[in-house]
Amino acid sequence: MSNHRDQPQPPAWPLLDEAVEAALRRAFADGSWGKYHGPNCHQLTERLAALHGCEHVVLTCSGTAAIELALHGLNIGDDDEVILSAYDFEGNFKNVLTVGAKPVLVDVDAWTGQLDVSQLEAARSPRTKAIIASHLHGGVVSMPDARAFADQHGIAVIEDACQMPGAMVQGRVAGSWGDVGALSFGGSKLLTAGRGGALVTRDAAIAQRIRVHTQRGNDAYPLSELQAAVLVPQLDRLSERNQLRTENVSRLLTLLSDVAGLRCFVEGAGSGDPRRAPGDPSRETQPGFYKLGFWFDAAAFGCSRDDFACAMRVKGIALDPGFRALHRTHARGRFRAVNDLPNATRADESILVLHHPVLLGTAGDMQAIRDAIT
Ligand SMILES: *Cc1c(COP(=O)(O)O)cnc(C)c1O
Repeated sequence: MSNHRDQPQPPAWPLLDEAVEAALRRAFADGSWGKYHGPNCHQLTERLAALHGCEHVVLTCSGTAAIELALHGLNIGDDDEVILSAYDFEGNFKNVLTVGAKPVLVDVDAWTGQLDVSQLEAARSPRTKAIIASHLHGGVVSMPDARAFADQHGIAVIEDACQMPGAMVQGRVAGSWGDVGALSFGGSKLLTAGRGGALVTRDAAIAQRIRVHTQRGNDAYPLSELQAAVLVPQLDRLSERNQLRTENVSRLLTLLSDVAGLRCFVEGAGSGDPRRAPGDPSRETQPGFYKLGFWFDAAAFGCSRDDFACAMRVKGIALDPGFRALHRTHARGRFRAVNDLPNATRADESILVLHHPVLLGTAGDMQAIRDAIT
């Protein structure tokens, strides 16, 4: 055990943030920490509404609950179908089943690892009610295409922005492209209260249906005053921290540019070159980095992805395998798929994700990642 403690550790999360400490003291002094209702949830709601340009915000107990509530808000249930990426957060798949609908899985783009919007038409049926568009690992789903497709066919979009609060996706704040957008405040996320989430929407009817579903004499999916208290000061710093993370991603990608066998997800100005800076110069797209995703080439490194990830952990670098693909972990009868999902299969086997806390570090920390990898 003792040599375990000697191993370098990745940077801790959450940060020791003095603004959070002050918020906790305020919540103690004004008693809001122990109340059902107080100023903090109200303030958080207003801030999220302003950030997303969405009038209606519902705070929830988690991001997973937010997606479930979004499905309820869209009246999705028995015999309906919901399209999502075969490489996605498992809770999204489970939520579709929870409301009684059928998940329809589409493949991911071979370069970006995101939902391949060119396959939406093949996935569509008369039962299709919604698309879950989930921005993952620093990549972004092409929202103008997803939105146009959905509008053409009268399908709703649930935009899962749990991995990139405050990011810019093709000119709009992540989450605000969807009929409903979802955020997470889970313990590892960029905005954290240990648990929690939120929904944003411009649609009063959707918001009303969600409220009717949650209000059962009390809020059945609540975010507490204490959670809201610690989130508000983090929102103050979100843009600055997103910027710093983006700069460090840029540095890291430059440092890794001559490393064969690791190809980053991040899309830049459309050059197809992984060495380009994240986002585009017009700042129409500035992704968020809860994780930074890479395609790992086992042949180039001469070891398996999982062995490589273990070796990185030993060196104190939080570079881990990504999600399991949904078609490989669920029985065939539970979903429909448009084809064999070859890219999602590859994603299942070869994605690595760098966890975000180190991205608030220094240029030296980025160099240390390169040194560990090489
Ligand atoms: C974390 C996450 C969620 C769920 O959030 P929780 O608050 O942990 O329930 C949903 N979708 C994505 C893409 C996530 O990364």
